[in-house]
Amino acid sequence: MLDHLTFTSPEPKVIQGAKQDWELVIGLEVHAQVASNAKLFSGASTTFGAEPNSNVAFVDAAMPGMLPVINEFCVAQAVRTGLGINAAINLRSAFDRKNYFYPDLPQGYQISQLYHPIVGEGEVIVDMGPGIARRVRIERIHLEQDAGKSIHDMDPNMSFVDLNRTGVALMEIVSRPDIRGPEEAAAYVSKLRQIMRYLGTCDGNMQNGNLRADVNVSICAPGAYERYQETGDFSHLGTRCEIKNMNSLRFIQAAIDYEARRQIAIVEDGGKVVQETRLYDADKGETRSMRSKEEAHDYRYFPDPDLLPLEIEQAWVDDIAADMPELPDAKKARFVKDMGLSEYDAGVLTAEVENADYFEAVSQGRDGKQAANWVINELFGRLNKEGLTVETSPVSATQLGGVIDLIAKGDISGKIAKDLFEILWTEGGDPAEIVDSRGMKQVTDLGAIEAAVDDIIAANPAQVEKAKANPKLAGWFVGQVLKATGGKANPAAVNELVAQKLGL
Ligand code: ADP
Ligand code: MG
Repeated sequence: MLDHLTFTSPEPKVIQGAKQDWELVIGLEVHAQVASNAKLFSGASTTFGAEPNSNVAFVDAAMPGMLPVINEFCVAQAVRTGLGINAAINLRSAFDRKNYFYPDLPQGYQISQLYHPIVGEGEVIVDMGPGIARRVRIERIHLEQDAGKSIHDMDPNMSFVDLNRTGVALMEIVSRPDIRGPEEAAAYVSKLRQIMRYLGTCDGNMQNGNLRADVNVSICAPGAYERYQETGDFSHLGTRCEIKNMNSLRFIQAAIDYEARRQIAIVEDGGKVVQETRLYDADKGETRSMRSKEEAHDYRYFPDPDLLPLEIEQAWVDDIAADMPELPDAKKARFVKDMGLSEYDAGVLTAEVENADYFEAVSQGRDGKQAANWVINELFGRLNKEGLTVETSPVSATQLGGVIDLIAKGDISGKIAKDLFEILWTEGGDPAEIVDSRGMKQVTDLGAIEAAVDDIIAANPAQVEKAKANPKLAGWFVGQVLKATGGKANPAAVNELVAQKLGL
């Protein structure tokens, strides 16, 4: 399935320091909100933007005596995500309490999976350009609860707490430190997002914070990473800093670049990088310390006594596996192989699952390349220009397919098809009916074309003499005939008749 890809060995981003070259090592912990109508351990709704504290079950508010009940759907979503990244599914996993105090965490602990995550090792194939890919190893995915939200900017004297997000299911997806540069980090997050959107396990809305990443960055001398890979010994790598809660691909890249340069300056100055958690300040374009490892909380993890270990059956996992949608890599490979699309076009068409669905509806039973040209150049071009998406497109897949059918039948030329597209865009309607009722049909009636050719020839004797001496000038007649017929004459027929009449 992946034959069409070339896997490159990691080519790290190299930053020149004042004294030597440095390479980057990056590992990401991505928090993905599970797409589910209800929370991980309660039936409360997860609707975004609801009235504060309206989606809160007693257990979310940690009322005494309330007990968590696992949401089977959220577990299935985590399993589905694991299968989507070729990961091992652990039939037995367990929930632990991660204890800490925060006003928006009424329980005083977060239920998470430290020791026995539901998903084990997997991999994400990251696209680094058309046909070029890189593997990033995944260490684990575990399920955990999200915390609530403290609101500090509504009142000068008070803070508010909104518990709507408390207890919403998150998947924490932990990568190995296999990412070697800022662009690769962004490409990794986009690929994860794409896979989860195809699977329907996370909506990937980064703006709403439904997908956010903690970015671990360290620097090392050239060659050190290879020694880590050979031995698995982390001591070959530099000390890392973790940049918390990034929810923009652009900021992830800027933060990594800033952080790497900060660490290089420290080390080249004879200092040591201190392992710590940092925050990225987008306004200043820099990271600053949030808390150091020494001050880090002791979370006193222990198995949650309210929840039995989670045991799932292989048959249940197999059912989920049997019901998986086609994922982006497979879809892209199929578009390249079966439809003859370029790697680039297939990449554009599969980037968003909705776009891929639209394209598949247009190309169904039609020429794939022609469908791809229309969808990418005419439709996407226009949607982008007007800030729309395929879901809000004024032209449906059925309508666009109709346009392509009319071209294929020879009813309209490519040029008229663009006019027709414009009419569909602004007025809507059925393509075939519009072509009929507005007389847009291509003239393939040779008699009519011949008459038009004769008229032009008769009216331009001087041009005829010139064309006879220089056959290249026959194009002028073709242009005149097309003009005279309002662009509706079949160009091939016009070419042939002009050549014939001029005796070329
Ligand atoms: P913790 O649980 O203390 O945060 P982990 O070992 O789970 O530590 O690592 C968290 C993340 O940090 C992982 O994504 C891992 O790949 C990454 N990481 C570990 N060591 C390094 C390093 N030297 N440089 C960059 N990233 C690293
Ligand atoms: Mg961590």
